Formats: sequence, structure tokens, C-alpha cells
Amino acid sequence: MNAPLPLSARSVMADAVARAVRPRERLLVSQWADRHRILSSKQSGEAGKWRTSRNPMLREIMDALSVHSPVREVVVMKSSQVGVTEMSVNWLGYIIEHAPSAAMVLMPTIEARDTWKAQKLNPLMLETPCVHDILGGIRSRDAANSKDMIDFPGGILFLAGGNSPNSYAQKSVRFLMLDDLDRFPHRVGDEGDPVGLARGRVKAFPRHKLLFASTPTIKGASLIEREYEASDQRRYHVPCPHCGELLVLDWKHVQANPQLTEAWYVCTECSATIHEHDKPKLLAAGVWIAAHPECERRGYHISALYAPIGLGPSWLDLVREFRSVCKDPTTLKPFINGHLGESWEDQTDKLKANELAKRAEPYELGTIPPGCLALTVGIDTQDSWLAVQVLGWGADGKHWVQNWFEMQGETTSLQVWDELEAFLNAPLVNSYGVAMKYRAVGIDSRGHRTEQVKNFVIRTTLAIPVYSLQGSTSRMGRAIAQTGSYPTKYRGQIVKKGYCVWNVGTEHCKDFIYAHLAADSERSEAVRAFHFPQGLGDEYFNGLLSETYDPEKKRYIQRLGAKYKRNEPLDTVVYAWAVGQHREVNIGRGRTGRPDPAYWQRLEKLLEPEGSIQDSGFRIQDSGFRKINHPSLCRIPIRAAVRASFKKGDSMSDIVRRAARRLVRSQAFLDTFTELVAAELERQLRVEAGGEHIYISKTTCMKERAERDMLIRNCFTGHNVKFLSQKFGLTTQHIYRIVKKRNIGG
Ligand SMILES: [Zn+2]
Repeated sequence: MNAPLPLSARSVMADAVARAVRPRERLLVSQWADRHRILSSKQSGEAGKWRTSRNPMLREIMDALSVHSPVREVVVMKSSQVGVTEMSVNWLGYIIEHAPSAAMVLMPTIEARDTWKAQKLNPLMLETPCVHDILGGIRSRDAANSKDMIDFPGGILFLAGGNSPNSYAQKSVRFLMLDDLDRFPHRVGDEGDPVGLARGRVKAFPRHKLLFASTPTIKGASLIEREYEASDQRRYHVPCPHCGELLVLDWKHVQANPQLTEAWYVCTECSATIHEHDKPKLLAAGVWIAAHPECERRGYHISALYAPIGLGPSWLDLVREFRSVCKDPTTLKPFINGHLGESWEDQTDKLKANELAKRAEPYELGTIPPGCLALTVGIDTQDSWLAVQVLGWGADGKHWVQNWFEMQGETTSLQVWDELEAFLNAPLVNSYGVAMKYRAVGIDSRGHRTEQVKNFVIRTTLAIPVYSLQGSTSRMGRAIAQTGSYPTKYRGQIVKKGYCVWNVGTEHCKDFIYAHLAADSERSEAVRAFHFPQGLGDEYFNGLLSETYDPEKKRYIQRLGAKYKRNEPLDTVVYAWAVGQHREVNIGRGRTGRPDPAYWQRLEKLLEPEGSIQDSGFRIQDSGFRKINHPSLCRIPIRAAVRASFKKGDSMSDIVRRAARRLVRSQAFLDTFTELVAAELERQLRVEAGGEHIYISKTTCMKERAERDMLIRNCFTGHNVKFLSQKFGLTTQHIYRIVKKRNIGG
């Protein structure tokens, strides 16, 4: 490759003029790509010269994008990894080098645009020589090659993100490519549908070209599917090597041996076996056939079954992946969308409240069933009550509704918020006698009491993270994302980002919850994703099913019928599920953010210890104070204590004794112990009150306080103190001194 000569401004202009007056050769995009395109190792498994013959089904699509083709709109509904993105980059190279004009690339977000530019467009500009020659002089000359625009002789390429309508309003272009259509917001600003918006941008050019590409998402909500259905609906037909019949490859006919070492395709006509190694022949001889040839708009459907060997997943890869994802709708959905290039059909309208109620399992509301290793809380604010739901989390994607109730009280007054704080700060005890804390709390800030919620969230006396949430109806594609932060005052100082509000992708969360509730109807109790306790009541289940997916409006809407009026059970479970995925909470995930099975093993060891509970920690003998243990006891810095107590010449027992003293004196140890006792006491009081929820707040009456103090002191007099003295080699007097000094319970 010749190094491009540095071009002066004059020579750039001369070149542009020469290009403009040169008789234009009739060149197809596929021919251009075969002649010029170099694939970078950054973007492709197969670096080097592009060969259309390597992926023959892309030829017709590319050629429909050529300037001489009468086709105006091309819709590609596709699986991922089938070369469509590279194909569209070919088109851009062709535009820049061969058919300069105004062009635009629209991505779902500004971030997606920047990534795409770095990964796809920059390699084209740097490594495909003829494009580099044209842009090289410009790149060094000025800032015309910016993030949102590339100026080239005879044309301009705008790069925009779909979430900011300003970036493409007012602009008029001849060529427009809209990638990842289904990830666009369904409404962009006040201007409406991204498809209509894109059409508006090209209408000034009678010989325009529009390319829409995307993997589909949910049936009815998928824009790419809607556009594909309005097209001539082409599918790639390949001839059976045995009988010659033209086949559309369909997932139903892929088979594999039980050991999953081989997969093949069964011809629907002659039942003969077509092997993976027949693929290159198959693809080369394939033809696109339209289901509706009368339609002017071109539509292409591509699934991963057609991926050329080495460029995408093999049939065997697909079968293996399918086996691992097929049992879970949330992992099956990406497979159907991403590999088969098909939309996912929603099942929510088939759910019935009375059938959900029948799934109630033998554990009581408010208790923590075995297997439930983490808890999150979702709260909805109303004028005169708070709706509170606690969601349990466990291995294998299991969830338990752990608690559900309404906390009564005018939400303009402080009392109900104090009560809420007391409820959230109080740890619970699971069925193994181990204390647990709520991991995170999500509270609706857009409801009735925005200001009160803010004041609550910035309280410094909360023992657990509380996140202020607001529902986002646009399809964010994830559960939770930060939207804004506001300064707060703390001890007279302004804290810059003291108060944050988090956007909850309610549609994403409801997809998950409803998909699992639907799939659970065919699952046995042991493997269900959502578990319900006894005693929830019809109102809860009606509320949980208060919404249904409306394919036309492309969002969840309220179900018809008066019994579905209350939606707090659904909203609160959405909040509780969303905060579990907050990056600071990340339940069930490792540091990389991926699901981590070891996470649950670690928690299980701590919260559901094997063997006798007496061996594993404290035992409080007095009636009611059974089986107390706490994971944070394990976090007390024993090693640091030992290190600090080490003196040369000491015997082992001296060191242990000194370290133990240090430990018992440590704040963490005493705090934990106090907390455990208070939690257990509270549990007792709740039980005594006949299952009614009463909570001890700072303003609890004196009688209860005295009772609490007495019980706490009691627990230091019995077996527990003996246990402490044995374990740490201290006298009982010493322990009493500590207790008195710490003023526990007083
Ligand atoms: Zn056949």
C-alpha cells in the first residue's frame, strides 16, 4: 500500500473537482467492497481483503444499496454476528469514495454512536486505502472529522444518536442508515417514531436510500419487525444437496446427537441429513425469495443458521447454547432475538391471579424461607400510607416474596418515615437463626411525596442503602441507571452530589417479572423463579397482574377491570428487583457484573451454616433467644487484632488472650452483638403481638424500652457470658465492665 501523500488544501479541491466531473462508473456496493475494502483485525475475525463470496447472502442486500438500484428502503431483520454491520460500513465506504453525497448514520444513543465510530468507522477510514486517501488530507487539516460529522469532498457524513433529537433535526440527507432500530426510544423528543423521523430526513432527495437494521426484540413492540412485515419479506432459500428443494433454514429442523458433539439439518422434503460442511455450497447457491413481491420496500431476514463457517456460530454452537438457555425465558429471549433473528412473544395476558394464588408455598409472610440469601425492599408512596414489599433472592435466579404490607400514616408527617426507618434498620433472623439485613431499598420518588422521599433518602441514620427511584417508560434495556444528582446539605456543608435519583427501566423489569411468572406455570415448585408465601390475599395477586403488555402502544398498560386498580404490588416488586441490580448492590453477580455462582455459595456458607448452630457462634440461652449468629461476626478483624497483640517472647496462649481482649473491646464486635440482640428482641415482640407488625423506633414508650433493656442485660448474665469468658479467657467481671461501659440497651 502506498503511503498517502500529504495533500494541500488545493490538491484536495482539485481532487474533489476531478471526482465530480469524472464519468461515474456503474459500480455495485459488493463490487466496490471486493475491490477496495480491507477488514481491520480490530473489527473482524478475518482481517484482510473483503470477499463477498465469503458471505454470499449479503451481496443482494449491498447491491440494493447501490446508487443505480431503484430500491429506496432496505430493512434487515437479523441475528447478531452475521456481517450486516460490516456490510453497512461497506456502504459508507462506497458513499465516501464512489457516490459522495450527504449521508447520516443514526445510532440508538450517543454512546452507541461513539462506540460504533471507534470500532467500525475509524478502521474503515484508516485501513481501507481509497477511503483513507480521500479523508487523510482532511483529517490532518482541520476538525471536520469530529464526533458527529465527517466532511469529505462532495459530501458529508453526519453521525447521530437517537436519544438526542437535536442531533438530526433540520438535517437533510440522501443516504441514511439506522442501526439497532429496536434499541431506539419509541418516541424521540416530541417528534415521534424514529422510523418516521428518518424518512423525514431523506424526503428532499427523490433518489434517496434508507437502511434499517436491527435484531428484533418483543413481538408487537419491535420496530424492525413492523418494518419487515411492511416489506416484501425476503428469506434466503438454499437448495438441499440431496433433493434440490429450496429450503428456508428453520431452527425446528436442526438436530444433534445426545452427546452434543455433532449437529445437522434435516431436509423437510427428503428427510436427508445436511451437514455443517455442506454450508458453503448451500450459501453460494442460495437465493433471496420475497413472500410479497408486490411490495416496493425490500426486507431481508437473516438468522444465525446461515452464518458462514468461521464467521458466526455453528449449528452445534447454537444447539449447545440453546440447551443451556432454553429453561429460562430471560436467557431464551436473547437467543431467539440474537441468534434466530425473531421476536419474542409475550405471555403476560395468559396469567391469572387465582392461579398465581394457588402457587403459595408453606412459608409465612414475613419469614425468610431456606435458600433465600438476600433481601431487597421496594416502596411505593401514597398520600396516607407506604406500600412495602420485600423480595428475597437466591441461587439459580430464585425469588421469594418475603413480605408485603402497607405502613399506614400520613406521608406528610414524620411519624411514618420514622417507622419506616426503624423497620429498615432492624435486621431479621432467617430459619437458620442467622441475622440478615436488607441489602438495598428502592423508593418511588415520582409518586405523591417527592420532597419527603428526598428527605428520607438523605437521612444519615439509615443502616442500609436507600435509593430514590423514578420509573422510566422508555425501553432502557436495563433495570436501573442514574439520571440525576442534586446537592444536599450535611452538617452545614453542601455535598455536591448528595442526592441521586435513579431511573428504573420499568418495561425491562416487567418483561423479566411477567416472563418468569408465565414460565413458572410450567415449572415445578422447586425450580420456580417466583415463590409466594401463605397469606398474601387476592388484592396482592390482582395488583401484581394489574398490567398487561399492549403491542400497539408498545408498553405495559393497566388491565381492564376494577379489581386490577391497585398496582402497588407490581410497582414495589419492580423497585425491589431493580435495586438488586444497582451497581453498588449487584446481587448474584461477581465483580465483572456477570452472574457468579460462587456468590451464592459464599452467602450460603454464612447464612445457612451446616451443622449445629451452637458451634458456630453465639448462643443465647434465655427463652426466645435461640440461635443467634451473624455474618458480620466473621468480618471482625481477628487477624489485625492478633497482629497488634504480638509481642516477642510471648507464648501462644498469651498472644491469643491479648488478641481476644482487643477483639472484645472492638467497636465492631460490640455493635454487632447489640444489633443481634435488638433484632431478636424485636422479632420476639412482633411474635408476641400476634403477627402484627410493631416496630421499635426511637420514640417507643418507656415501658417497652425498660423491657428491652432488661432482656438485653439478661442475655449477658446467662450462658452467653460464660461462653464469652471461656472463648476469650476473660473474667466475667471484665465482660460486665465492657457491657456497662458500652451502656448496651440503655
Ligand atoms: Zn432434500
